[in-house]
Amino acid sequence: MHCPFCAAEDTKVIDSRLVTGGAQVRRRRECGNCEERFTTYESAELLMPQLIKSDGVREPFNESKLRSGLKKALEKRPVSTEKIEEAIDHIKHRLRAGGEREVPSRIVGEAVMDALRGLDAVAYVRFASVYRQFEDISAFRKELDELEKK
Ligand SMILES: [Zn+2]
Repeated sequence: MHCPFCAAEDTKVIDSRLVTGGAQVRRRRECGNCEERFTTYESAELLMPQLIKSDGVREPFNESKLRSGLKKALEKRPVSTEKIEEAIDHIKHRLRAGGEREVPSRIVGEAVMDALRGLDAVAYVRFASVYRQFEDISAFRKELDELEKK
């Protein structure tokens, strides 16, 4: 990384150790240009973004809410718990991928729809019918027709 003193690119790590019980790596670096030393801390960024609801209210991402939503859609469907957990990991990854601190909550809904579409068609329709709040039966029929085409 760049030297914070002279902005030279050539800095080297002279010491590296785990701190905070292994949750972080502390590195001592030395600049090859100005010979200043500085410290960096590296830790995994596991924070999930806040969700922005359609009315503008912010709420924290809630993994157990996501899990229960998926399980409800997949109730009595032939999909293993392992597959559900994989889908949850995938959805979380997708939410973090942009590196944003806040994302519209519909992104979660879209990610769940995508996950269910790949897992089980019945669960997908169950979830979509609630999530999209189909205005009338024709919209629902259209969704079913699109499913049948795939
Ligand atoms: Zn320097």
